[in-house]
Amino acid sequence: MENLVRKEQRLTDKFIFFYILAVVLLWIKTYIAQLTQFDLGVEGTLQEFLLLLNPLGTAMLFLGIAFFFKGRRRYIGLIIIDLIMSILLYANVAFYREFRNFITLPTILQGSQNVGVIGNSIGAIIKPYDILFFVDVLLLIILLAFKIVKIDVRAFSRRKALAIISLALGFSSLNLALAEADRPQLLTRGFDRNYIVKYLGMYNYTIYDAVQSTKASAQRVLADSNDIIEVINFTRSNYAEPNPKYFGVAKGMNIIYVHLESIQEFLIGYELHGEEVTPFLNSLVHDENMLYFDNFFHQTALGKTADAEFLLENSLYGLSQGAAFTTKGRNTYHAAPAILKDLGYTSAVFHANSGSFWNRNEIYKAFGYDHFFDSSYFYMDPEQKADYGLNDKPFFEQSSVLLETLEQPFYAKFITVTHHYPYDMKNKEELTLAPHTTGDRSVDNYFQTARYADEALKQFFDYLKESGLYDNSLIIMYGDHYGISQNHDRAMAKVLDKEITRFDSAAALQRVPLFIRIPGVEGGIQHQYGGQIDILPTLLHLLGIDSKEYVHFGTDLLSPDHDELIPFRNGDFVSPTITSVDGKFYDSTTGEPLDPSMKEEAERYRTIVRQKLELSDRVVNGDLLRFYTPSSFTPVDPSDFDYKPDPDYDPEEFFKKAETEETEEIENEQ
Ligand code: MN
Repeated sequence: MENLVRKEQRLTDKFIFFYILAVVLLWIKTYIAQLTQFDLGVEGTLQEFLLLLNPLGTAMLFLGIAFFFKGRRRYIGLIIIDLIMSILLYANVAFYREFRNFITLPTILQGSQNVGVIGNSIGAIIKPYDILFFVDVLLLIILLAFKIVKIDVRAFSRRKALAIISLALGFSSLNLALAEADRPQLLTRGFDRNYIVKYLGMYNYTIYDAVQSTKASAQRVLADSNDIIEVINFTRSNYAEPNPKYFGVAKGMNIIYVHLESIQEFLIGYELHGEEVTPFLNSLVHDENMLYFDNFFHQTALGKTADAEFLLENSLYGLSQGAAFTTKGRNTYHAAPAILKDLGYTSAVFHANSGSFWNRNEIYKAFGYDHFFDSSYFYMDPEQKADYGLNDKPFFEQSSVLLETLEQPFYAKFITVTHHYPYDMKNKEELTLAPHTTGDRSVDNYFQTARYADEALKQFFDYLKESGLYDNSLIIMYGDHYGISQNHDRAMAKVLDKEITRFDSAAALQRVPLFIRIPGVEGGIQHQYGGQIDILPTLLHLLGIDSKEYVHFGTDLLSPDHDELIPFRNGDFVSPTITSVDGKFYDSTTGEPLDPSMKEEAERYRTIVRQKLELSDRVVNGDLLRFYTPSSFTPVDPSDFDYKPDPDYDPEEFFKKAETEETEEIENEQ
């Protein structure tokens, strides 16, 4: 009887056919996506084979869950699972276009933050051919809807289902074994998500990431006071004595930080259409009191802007997954504002974006910031709004007025926003430079908003000079991270008129400018290698505070003992001699593959870099600073701070009044 039914049924109407079709389509789609949409650095036959193999096991396994449903639900279940996997794949492709990285669980849990980030750049991220990411799911739905394939409601033997699942697990195990053979400790090291995707595929990466993130939150619970001892031993041995020439030269001065959004070092001195793009910054390089660092690197990962701030305030590394700002906002920190409080400093951040963005309004309390002037303090002129707040010119104008409400000495940080990806200034009349001509829109526009940022900065400096603050303030300005991602190498080749190699793209072009201006101190161009991790110890020494007791992973840039081995968050690094990109070593001066005689030294560097990142992660994930208080440090209580303006504060009125007063003052003087 059963035989009879089977004869009547076409092969294509069997559920197993539908399942195999779905698996094959998902497999091919994922393979093509992994091959063309990500820059995974696949090399050699084995890696190429693994890239082909890795989606198969997972596709079989996950779609195989459908076998455990009954009747029609099997088909619905299969399509839903297929759809979820397709969305996951596509979300990662879109995310990668902007962040050159994969989505992590903390990134999703940060939810609203990233919806904002993505939402603002969505036009630049989505492409018309993206519909292809769902074409196989649509095909399956069409086959059923038009009854081209009939639904097979017969029970499926559990034995066969288990056999298929076992086969899937077999493929996955083979995949894992081959991956481990090619890259030992693939899963335990995990500094770089690229490797996981390359070897194990997009879907396994998602599982890996979920496990890692859960482990990280367990780390805090499991950490105890002994864990900090090893860290302190390391940071003490890594400590660089202050340079007597600079120690204490800025003692008692105000501190002004300017966070130069997306400004990269290659902009300095760059000419476009016969004009300097950033004439004001260029002039500052040669200011007599300016220390300008031309081998300075950003060290940010997914948290980008927030990572830069995290590095600067703490001399701790950001996390390799998500942003410490968002996931570690309640930790104990020995951040700059808290250290300076003991010396009578008032601290403030000026940033005309919503205070909850990147969880700033929480973590700033843990850092000990007295004030946070977020968008609720600014008059958000609709004509002057940017994607992430208020344009830099009105921002600096209004910030100066707010700055005058602070007691001196102050530690003040200004975070600019106009020069932010996708560099799309709403009011084109504000632009004074024609775009570049590479044909890549965000690259071309990049130069226009950089010019605007430069003009805004000049205007702020004019204010500092007029107000007299220029003569008693230490000014630090830094590029926070790259503005043009590695996905734009082709356009960058036109910009720089040279071929862009992996070495250029991943290391050399990750330079950002660092300016330190100290009134009365002789400046000059500094060529030593440095990173954002080094700024806090440098600052403390300039102020005459010894950083020895603090848990800092960077060293004073001006110290003769300064450590010039600069880690990147993915475990790569730069130094004056050896550079590591994608785990491969290069000669830093030529960009050529490293001479084999240097291999041992390079491996030693790699070990140190890993150790630094790992120990820093232990501090941040385990919240270890709660177990240690340096003798000269007074812990802060985050609940002491409240950043909300008075309920009757009206920014528009406040700034109008300030403007009238200023005009009256000028009239009185005349
Ligand atoms: Mn930024």
